[in-house]
Amino acid sequence: NNIVAIVGRPNVGKSTFFNRLIQRREAIVDSVSGVTRDRNYGKSEWNGKEFSVIDTGGYIKGSDDIFEAEIRRQVELAIDEADAIIFIVDVEEGITPMDDEVAKLLRKVKKPVLLVINKVDNAMREKDAVEFYNLGLGEYYTISGMSGSGTGELLDKLVEVLPEMPEVTEEVEPLPRFCVVGRPNAGKSSFINALIGEDRFVVTDIAGTTRDAIDTKYNRFGFEFNLVDTAGIRRKAKVKEDLEFYSVMRSVRAIEHSDVCLLVIDATRGFEGQDQSIFWLAEKNRKGVVILVNKWDLVEKDTMSTRDYERKIREELQPFTDVPILFISALTKQRLLKALETAVEVFENRKQRISTSKFNELMLPIIEATPPPALKGKYVKIKYCMQLPTPTPQFVFFANLPQYVKDPYKRFIENKLREQYNFSGVPIDIYFRQK
Ligand code: GDP
Repeated sequence: NNIVAIVGRPNVGKSTFFNRLIQRREAIVDSVSGVTRDRNYGKSEWNGKEFSVIDTGGYIKGSDDIFEAEIRRQVELAIDEADAIIFIVDVEEGITPMDDEVAKLLRKVKKPVLLVINKVDNAMREKDAVEFYNLGLGEYYTISGMSGSGTGELLDKLVEVLPEMPEVTEEVEPLPRFCVVGRPNAGKSSFINALIGEDRFVVTDIAGTTRDAIDTKYNRFGFEFNLVDTAGIRRKAKVKEDLEFYSVMRSVRAIEHSDVCLLVIDATRGFEGQDQSIFWLAEKNRKGVVILVNKWDLVEKDTMSTRDYERKIREELQPFTDVPILFISALTKQRLLKALETAVEVFENRKQRISTSKFNELMLPIIEATPPPALKGKYVKIKYCMQLPTPTPQFVFFANLPQYVKDPYKRFIENKLREQYNFSGVPIDIYFRQK
């Protein structure tokens, strides 16, 4: 997917615009998964073109007194990581010094930049907007975040300027594509080096399907796999930023481009907000996940057992808790083989296909024994179910009254499914449809 970043100083209307872009799709995704939505990252679609959107402003807390330097770093990162940038300004405020700063950075960018003037609600504002030519970014688009006017034209332009995504070449036996993600200093590079160390520089780079993402093929412990390397991961940040925004932004492309994400956690810090955001990113993209609790060598084993630690993490993963959690050390090279084995297993789990007859044989008796609760005196009857031929596991159950099947029952079905089949580390979708 192409990645579109929304930049601009605080309070110009970035999140309103962001919400408008992702609204339609998100509503669907949320009702199925029941997972809390990320307020800063989502998928959107216009004229049949799908893209990911990141609201860079959403990651700043207490954004009123934000430092200029911080905005600057955000814009720089957006420039690094995104395929197109939407720069939002506010017609009521006119050009502020901070707008000037941002524009200065954006003028140098080779990627498409769309200047969007918000709060243009009437003809007079439309005239005021002319001033923004002075930002030196050329043509601009006027919108009203409140009414949504102007959005269509802007999106027409956006999907037109987005780079074409190369066709994904279908290999006969495609290798698993893994990415290593996590917040700064969790030990991602150390893990990668410990795993593939000496060969890092003698491997052949195969241009990936996404601009800026490179799949590098490795063979370790008898496993063949591709490791997704993105510009953002390759290039080490000059200053190590411990802001949620940075690790999420740097993970988006890698996650979207891979099959299984190895999420590296720093054992000395625990599973925190940033880790959760990255986890949700993988879940939302329906990627496989393995959680690697790194630096386990530093944890006093008397104070904390793996079991306690694991339980705490699983609480944070709700409701998608069926995820492998491994305790590793990149430093002492503990359980690296296990980590790789598990990643391969999750990859296999994700692409397994269950035959329709077996699936019905197994699920129908379970459903018969525990049918969905009756609603308004009506009984839901499920006659037939199957796995859909989709890249990620999706299951459909045909019922007379699918709208009566509520989330708790969907979770019950999902749990039964996970008990019977190994979907460890793999998000699955369950739908109920009219027969
Ligand atoms: P990255 O930003 O996620 O790529 O993190 P780095 O790989 O650069 O590691 C950050 C710091 O943690 C470095 O000082 C590493 O030496 C240290 N580190 C990484 N893995 C381990 C580990 O398993 N045990 C210990 N004790 N330190 C580690």
